[in-house]
Amino acid sequence: MQIYGADYYPEHWDESSWEKHVKIMKEIGIEWVRVGEFAWSIVEPKEGRYNFSKLEKALKLLKDAGIKNIVGTPTAAPPMWLIKKHPHVLPVDKFGRQKGAGSRRHYCPANDVYREYSKKIVEKYAQHLSTYADMWQIDNEFGCHDTTLCYCESTRKAFVEWLKKRYVSIDELNYRWGNRFWSQTVNDWDEIVLPINTPAFENPHMMLDFFRFSTDIHIDYMRMQSEIIRKYSDKPITHNLMVDFFDIDYKKLSQYMDLVSWDNYVATKVYDPYRQAANHDLMRSLKKKPFLVMEQQPGRVNWKTINEQYPDGYLKLWIKQAHLHGALGVLVFRFDQIQWGAEQYHGALLDYAERKTARCEEFSRAKRETEGVLVPEKEVAIYFSYENAWIHRINHLNRNFNYWESVMEIYKAVRRLGYNVDFVFEEDDEIDSYRLLIVPYAMYLPEKFIEKLEGFKGDILITCMTSIKDEHNWLRREFPHGLQRLLGLEIVDFAATERVDLNVSGLSLSGGFWCDKIMVKDAEVLGSFKSGPFAGMPCVTKRGNKYYVATVGDEFFYTFMLGKLLPAKLVGDGVDSAQISEKLILLNVQEHENVVWVSNERIPLGAFESREV
Ligand SMILES: [Zn+2]
Repeated sequence: MQIYGADYYPEHWDESSWEKHVKIMKEIGIEWVRVGEFAWSIVEPKEGRYNFSKLEKALKLLKDAGIKNIVGTPTAAPPMWLIKKHPHVLPVDKFGRQKGAGSRRHYCPANDVYREYSKKIVEKYAQHLSTYADMWQIDNEFGCHDTTLCYCESTRKAFVEWLKKRYVSIDELNYRWGNRFWSQTVNDWDEIVLPINTPAFENPHMMLDFFRFSTDIHIDYMRMQSEIIRKYSDKPITHNLMVDFFDIDYKKLSQYMDLVSWDNYVATKVYDPYRQAANHDLMRSLKKKPFLVMEQQPGRVNWKTINEQYPDGYLKLWIKQAHLHGALGVLVFRFDQIQWGAEQYHGALLDYAERKTARCEEFSRAKRETEGVLVPEKEVAIYFSYENAWIHRINHLNRNFNYWESVMEIYKAVRRLGYNVDFVFEEDDEIDSYRLLIVPYAMYLPEKFIEKLEGFKGDILITCMTSIKDEHNWLRREFPHGLQRLLGLEIVDFAATERVDLNVSGLSLSGGFWCDKIMVKDAEVLGSFKSGPFAGMPCVTKRGNKYYVATVGDEFFYTFMLGKLLPAKLVGDGVDSAQISEKLILLNVQEHENVVWVSNERIPLGAFESREV
């Protein structure tokens, strides 16, 4: 089943516009809409006074026209009457300031009062709208607008309860958090505080637990809603995830959804095809299943400093790119452009006068050109961990290092060589079918994954910073923990650095951010540092088919390094690709003509053209 549609807000319109909207939907091939996720004050304008007639009427009209409905629960935007009555449901930021109402995501998921209100409204949604719902979306974009960590009293109390379960005894917590340092020892659970507006660095062990707890509280809040919906509906339940977002452990969260969906917005100033591709691949990898793009940027957005226009053709390209990476389909955000509200500058399929834009035709064409759901072959795996994203953020040897950005340098090199990438996680059981497994910058590597590495038959490439910490964010006593035999080396020291020059197999390359001082025991030296704190010492080693890189390499470095393990399937620039069984599908992501070489054959591609070879 493929899912093509748009995000629609019937409550923003007079009913007189609905039939016209549905007619256009049918004309351009919209088969699904997402509705209702910000409509709380429409259906409950005053506390306990419910009026679902407008929403029900709209959903019935859509359903009667053969359009399927994804119903979003409205809890990401509590109504003003609720905030007036219970202002303490508002979240608190890390400076101790209460956040305000008047936009969205102004609630704390740990607050019991808000949970009661959430249960009531979700139950009403389920009672009234299950007849029309073909899928459910819980809430909207957990953690958006920097709301993952809340510093309110409700959160503190819930965190303490979470800690009691994790550590059982206060002595154990004091030990694991290293509370002897800076006089942080606590005598009982209630002395635990959240680090609000601290003069110096927070406790790194506590912060890692605080991130873990914050994922768990969102999972708990989502499950609370799912359980209510399940009393009334057996349709799939999802939540819409975000681009380049690592505050919440999406791997863990996704295990409580029937399918993964995410909102595909251009994360950088200019569209970077490989970055969007990496996000698609990460989303597919969470459940190793097809995913849905719940919101697709249509052209311009409203939330950047400069909200650039994208010329005609980009929407079609983005839909085709999602399809290439294994999407079930795409919903364009949004169907209807409106004159008012905080997103008044956001693009849509219609214009302000409810007329079709050129994007409607693009949508229809993209839909016609993306038949069937593609399942990319398992070729290269990159180990990824949300906990490591937090560990790198909480404390650092080199603040300029960014985990995701450096992982993406490796990702881009693999993609340029023409290979599919799956991200793999500690929980994943099936990792043996990949020909190459890369484990980059994984400061904490769980024992069970270390065991999987030992049994892995394919090539393995491990980088600096890997397996140097334990689950409590303590440094290990020996590095890399559990991998010394596999790699035939020991790391005896490490250092932060600016750019360093390298000599790898006779080629001059560069690294940066971090260097390891390697003591080789049973490995071949393939490259050495030419500059930096460990000049003259090994920087790349090999033991059998297990490689180690003792610094942070960029895309160029990895294109060279990996080129030996992955013979280039394509040579060229500005092309995304996917290996689908025997076929290599190419997609020119440039708005002009392009040429790539595949097996010494010259392949010309028109602007945004895709082709199977
Ligand atoms: Zn809170």
